[in-house]
Amino acid sequence: MNLPKPKKNELMFLPLGGSGEIGMNLNLYGNSGKWLIVDCGVTFGDPIYGSVDISMPDIVSLENSTESICGLLLTHAHEDHIGAVHYLWPYLKCPVYATEFAAEVLIRKLKEVGLEDEVEINIIRIDSKIKIGPFDIEIISMSHSIIEPSSALISTSAGSVFHTGDWKIDFNPQIGEGINKKRLVELAKENVLAMVCDSTNVLVNGTSGSEEDVIKPLTNIIKECSGRVFVSTFASNVMRLNTLAKIGLSLGKKVALVGQSMWRMVEIAKQSGYLSDLPTFISERDIKNVEKDNLMIICTGSQGEPRGALNRIANGTHRDASISNGDSVIFSSRVIPGNEVSISEMQNRLSELGANIIESSKENMIHVSGHPAREELSQMYSWVKPKTLIAVHGETRHINAHVKYAKEQQINFAIPGRNGSIIQLSPGSPRFIGEVEHGRLIVDGNDLITRNSEVLKKRHKMMFNGSVFVVLNVSEDFKLINDPIIMTEGLAEIIEEDDPEYFIKSFIKEDIKPYYKSKKFDKSYIKESMTNSLKRIIKAQYLKRPVVRLELNLMK
Ligand SMILES: [Zn+2]
Ligand SMILES: [Zn+2]
Repeated sequence: MNLPKPKKNELMFLPLGGSGEIGMNLNLYGNSGKWLIVDCGVTFGDPIYGSVDISMPDIVSLENSTESICGLLLTHAHEDHIGAVHYLWPYLKCPVYATEFAAEVLIRKLKEVGLEDEVEINIIRIDSKIKIGPFDIEIISMSHSIIEPSSALISTSAGSVFHTGDWKIDFNPQIGEGINKKRLVELAKENVLAMVCDSTNVLVNGTSGSEEDVIKPLTNIIKECSGRVFVSTFASNVMRLNTLAKIGLSLGKKVALVGQSMWRMVEIAKQSGYLSDLPTFISERDIKNVEKDNLMIICTGSQGEPRGALNRIANGTHRDASISNGDSVIFSSRVIPGNEVSISEMQNRLSELGANIIESSKENMIHVSGHPAREELSQMYSWVKPKTLIAVHGETRHINAHVKYAKEQQINFAIPGRNGSIIQLSPGSPRFIGEVEHGRLIVDGNDLITRNSEVLKKRHKMMFNGSVFVVLNVSEDFKLINDPIIMTEGLAEIIEEDDPEYFIKSFIKEDIKPYYKSKKFDKSYIKESMTNSLKRIIKAQYLKRPVVRLELNLMK
């Protein structure tokens, strides 16, 4: 169906990304003929196409309704909420609303693509009210693994909905006020129709823990370390960076930063008024001038990213930082699902260089998640008391578990968010009313292509099966004028007794014979028929399905 035009008495919710996957969040709320977008993020990689680096929600369903989009509200600066704006804004062309820190992060991205003067960015303050089209929005402070995380109470003529954004309950986040419990508790009296809620950690019992909880274990561990102390964490986790820097300084260490994104985040945070009590960090170039036992290096690359600082250090290819026997590498981070192999490979290399590797454990909790575990979820339900819970921000298993959990916690209605499915929240009971086209867009060089695009399928096929190109120069009666030209890439190992190009050439020479002097067949028929038989014979011989291209040149 097309994107509907909601009436004044209607309130609709439509997720286009992030409901059924972790990452690329994009949600829409509809009322009085207008739609408000909340967040516009990317995801890294793709579960099917290993060659894909960045993907994001396909917004084809909004294509003919751009005039009804009144704004894009960003809840915080994580890539899965903000990272697609500079790719998709040219198709949306709507004003953007973000806190100062998120706006700074966004502006840098817009500069990369020359859009910084095009996009209207409105700075919002946490715990304040704004109006975007028919939506009256109250921005409420949350706590999360980044600074300035916010939720939004979105009120319309058809009722109000509470969009949590990413959150956890932390009253001591070390930077900022933390979650605004006082205001959240008041929402119970405000008849919130639905709470659209983070499902990431619904499978985790208990609570996520406070940023304050990591200080002691980290201090004890770092105190015991000899040699250089490397601590890897997520660049965007400015609170952790602050925690680590203060621990290092309290232990009399000089603190260096390694990794471009770490430096960038610190710069943005300082620009937005944070980290002002920290001294200047040691630069990458000055690391060599600091005595080993006196140095702590906070670095990026905890996920084993190929270009991440820690991976380059593990490979011995980093210009300024290196590991020597007895150094320590602390992972103040979690393993993001899908990165297990790259992390363990990197840790093996670090270990080979003589590093002691330290990770978070039950006994030594040196990382806390930014998302709510079960007890925090039920705490939030009891504060806000929404009529309906809509589970978003999670893979299908998280979302379905969240729905089940909410029902167990006496929430009357609990509905799974599904990308592309419109939920009508009012009037009447919440229900699915239809589905719009949805999917993934993938960054392919300078282009954005859909996940079903032929180019992606072909590349994937070539990657796993190789390719075969055949050029045949034939006379008008389809006789070969010279030897067929055969080129194969990545099809099979070329060994003397089985050269795939020789094998294909012999086959082609025979296969073309039935067409000699034939008036019955035309060029395109022969081309297609020979391509198909070539595919068959390659499948039989090599058990592979390569990309096969056959050119038939008619020579006069
Ligand atoms: Zn987040
Ligand atoms: Zn998120």
